[in-house]
Amino acid sequence: MSASEALRRRFVGRMLGVASMHGKERALGPALAPALGLREVRAIAQLDTDRFGAFSGERARELEPREAALAKAREGARLSGLDLVIASEGSFFPHPAAPLATCDEEWLVLLDLRDERVHAHRYLTLDCAHAGRSCSSLEQLREFCARAPFPEHALVLRPSQRGSPADEVFKGLTQLEQVEAAFAQLLARHGAAWVELDLRAHMNPTRMRAIAAAAAEFVDELARLCPQCSAPHFAVALNVPGLPCAQCGEPTASLLAQVRRCEACGCERREPRADGRSEEDPGACEACNP
Ligand SMILES: [Zn+2]
Ligand SMILES: [Zn+2]
Repeated sequence: MSASEALRRRFVGRMLGVASMHGKERALGPALAPALGLREVRAIAQLDTDRFGAFSGERARELEPREAALAKAREGARLSGLDLVIASEGSFFPHPAAPLATCDEEWLVLLDLRDERVHAHRYLTLDCAHAGRSCSSLEQLREFCARAPFPEHALVLRPSQRGSPADEVFKGLTQLEQVEAAFAQLLARHGAAWVELDLRAHMNPTRMRAIAAAAAEFVDELARLCPQCSAPHFAVALNVPGLPCAQCGEPTASLLAQVRRCEACGCERREPRADGRSEEDPGACEACNP
C-alpha cells in the first residue's frame, strides 16, 4: 500500500474541526485537505481557546505546549461532536542553537476519536515576527511602530511586559491612531506601557505562514508508514544527539539520529539524519571551539 493510499484510507471524506478562534483553518486547510482527502475543514467557532493560555499575559499557560494543544483538540471535539479535530499551540523563545535569535515553535496535534489516536508534530522556525519594548514617551512608541512590520502585523499594548489585568490589555491594534490612544491611557495611569507585536495567528501573518509550513511538514510525517503494520505516522519519538566533530571526532550536541516509533503496534527503528550529514563543523564542537 502506498503512503497516500494509507492516508486516504484513514481520512478520506471526513470532516476536520479546527479548534481555533484565530482563523488557523486558513493555514491548515490548504495543506491538510488535499493530502488527506478531507471533505471539509472548518473552525469550531464556539471554542474559547484563550482559557488555555494567552500570549498577551492575562492568562498564563499551565500545560506543556503539546498537552495544551491536545486539551484544545479534546474540548473542540466535545463542543462540535466531530471525531477528527486539530489544534495548534505556539511558543516563542530563544533558539536552542542560536540564543540571540527568537524562534517560533508550533505544535500541531491531530486527535482521531475513531480509535483515540493522537498525532503530534513539532515545527520550529527562526522566521518569526516577535518584538516588544517598554515605552515611556510618544517618540519611543513611534520609533517602535516605524521599525516593526506594522500594520500588516497588529500590536498589543499593556501596562507591563508580564501579568497585565485583562481590562488594561489592548489587542489587535492595526491603526496608528488606536495605538496612540491606547498608549495615552496607559501612560496617564502607569507612566509607561509595554508595546509588542500581536502573536495571535490572525493578527500575525508571519505566524500564520509558520502554521501553514508546519502543516505541510506534518503531512509528510503522517505519510511515513510503519514498516511493520503500515499505519500512517511512523513518528519521531526521540532525537539522538552526538553527531561527531569533523576535526576531533568527539560527539557534539547536534542531531546524530532519530528513533521513530509506531503508536499502533510499538515498532521502533533508528534512522540516521534525514539530510545525510555524518560530521559536524568544528565551530559547533565544545572541544574544538569551547
Ligand atoms: Zn506499526
Ligand atoms: Zn571537535
